[in-house]
Amino acid sequence: MLIDDAYAELGLALGASEAEVKAAWRRLVSRWHPDRNKTAIALGRMQRINTAYERVRLAGFVPGAPAANDAAASAAAPQPAASGRPVRRRVRLTLEEAALGCMKVLRGKTMNECARCDGRGHRVLADACDVCEGHGIVRHRAWYGWVSTTATCSACHGERMARQVCDGCDGAGRVTRAYRHTVRIPAGVRHADVLDATETGGPFELHVELSTHRFFVLDDDGMLRCEMPVDGFAWMTNRWVEVPTLSGVQQMRLKRGHHVYRLRGQGFPSGRLGARGDYVVTVVPAFPESLSAEQEALLDQLSATPSTGPLGTWQRKLRAWDRGRPKASSAS
Ligand SMILES: [Zn+2]
Ligand SMILES: [Zn+2]
Repeated sequence: MLIDDAYAELGLALGASEAEVKAAWRRLVSRWHPDRNKTAIALGRMQRINTAYERVRLAGFVPGAPAANDAAASAAAPQPAASGRPVRRRVRLTLEEAALGCMKVLRGKTMNECARCDGRGHRVLADACDVCEGHGIVRHRAWYGWVSTTATCSACHGERMARQVCDGCDGAGRVTRAYRHTVRIPAGVRHADVLDATETGGPFELHVELSTHRFFVLDDDGMLRCEMPVDGFAWMTNRWVEVPTLSGVQQMRLKRGHHVYRLRGQGFPSGRLGARGDYVVTVVPAFPESLSAEQEALLDQLSATPSTGPLGTWQRKLRAWDRGRPKASSAS
């Protein structure tokens, strides 16, 4: 597989960063893995994705392409903005910002070609260069007089015409310009997504980075999850508990015996239409490690109560099975 084809298979442009390659691969795997995808083409597609990933990995990632965790670097160094080429920028978002959309202020510097000299750093005048008198070369006479060497004139670079240093860029050919733009981030962007933002300062290519959240986990398939401890007794008595959601703390009713709760429409936006998916809360009932004598007595009463339902059935079956078993010890 050619390297260009490998990047294309992963849906990336040549020169994507290591983080982007890994994110693209993970996403494709979650979509095409034959365990999840039962279509006839899944296996073939999965093999191509893995071949492409291996090919890109072996070729080595492009040096200088931003890795996932050097966010400061891109903002600090001015970036060359050749006309038409977008300025690469990283945007770090919280999960809430990514899910609901937000406005972000981009600040930075771009290095543009000097418009006054078209990037040359100088202006060519109508007169001949007076250092080389229009010859383009200068002659250096050696001390013994009869031998001389020639060199290209450093004043006109051999072009024979006089030059004037551009005062727009002090001869550098490029000018650094500070920018500050407010961009709208649409709802539902994911880690390693690349957004195009066309702003007055030139087009931007925004590389999304999602910060890890203290409560939420966003799965590769876009499912938003949270695992939280709940008081075991509150769980047994179907109490209300507070759960974190993308829009803040919310009340949720526990249901004895149930660990997984699906909050409809409270998850991450999915698909192009941006409808919110479900949010899955997994509760882990926690019981106190030590109990008072009074609590122990109450629990004793509860566990003495005959069991009903599936547990009662199980216990009856277990006793019946034990009674019907040949008693090995008495026979011998
Ligand atoms: Zn000259
Ligand atoms: Zn200039």
